[in-house]
Amino acid sequence: MKEIANDVYVVKPYDPNIVDCCVYLVDTKSDDGLILIDAGINFEPIQEIEKEGFKLKDIKHCLITHGHLDHFGVCHRLKEFNKNIKFYAHELDTKRIEQKPTEPYPNQFFANYKYEPVKITRKIKKDNEILKFGQLEFRCIHIPGHTAGSVAYLLDIGEKKILFAGDIPGVAINIGDGDLDQYIRSMEKLIALHIDIMCEGHEDITQPAEKVSRFIKGYLKFNKDLNSVVLENPYNTKVILSLALQSYELGWYSSVVDFCNYLLEVDPKNSDAKELREKAKKQNPPKIEYVKRLIEENYKG
Ligand SMILES: [Zn+2]
Repeated sequence: MKEIANDVYVVKPYDPNIVDCCVYLVDTKSDDGLILIDAGINFEPIQEIEKEGFKLKDIKHCLITHGHLDHFGVCHRLKEFNKNIKFYAHELDTKRIEQKPTEPYPNQFFANYKYEPVKITRKIKKDNEILKFGQLEFRCIHIPGHTAGSVAYLLDIGEKKILFAGDIPGVAINIGDGDLDQYIRSMEKLIALHIDIMCEGHEDITQPAEKVSRFIKGYLKFNKDLNSVVLENPYNTKVILSLALQSYELGWYSSVVDFCNYLLEVDPKNSDAKELREKAKKQNPPKIEYVKRLIEENYKG
């Protein structure tokens, strides 16, 4: 557990080998106790806070960024330690948190996950709603795009603006939960806020402000490109190669291989794709095997 700023910690940092979200903790130093931002699908790292002198029973609030299982999967475990814990999420994303899934989760990683629903204590309805805990104020920025009810929580601690942002990378194209036009507007809204420290759902912490802005713009381009290939022109080799290169920069090596393989189907002689694919293969990401093992070990039905 690492302190990011005064009384703000990262409990579960980004780990490229695990499909889970990052989890953050804020100590309100008041009767409001500890606040967790997202909970993820793996409880062990959260338990570790006790080694740092915090108590699980003092987690009194959990702010959920959006309705994807990898962000709220272990919320029910938090109730074992404090049955009065309050959960917060945008009203457009609460359904999946409050109900047991009627079908297995579509994602291969979560297919056998046993989820116990929790009730959302406060449903966020408006953009810029304020949540007050002790002396701290969190502004709820509604950022639809990745899902309809995605929320980023903005904490202004005087000299620094910290944003707990959920899934900025997306995917936010016009299929499934995504909506590209909304995503573009949401990301432009975030850029205008001049965030100093970005605490993201599946990435390392980004700072200072200038890097945060570059980070958001990078994902804006990625999602625009992805949308154009998937939904507009699947044979645009220039954009496919650009997606492969962007993925390489992001460290998404299995995606690089996928994009290059696809590009080589469209354009078998493309030497850039061949070269990049070999480079990515050398990185040998263990992600998928690791996740399968994690689920087999923990969530046997
Ligand atoms: Zn998500």
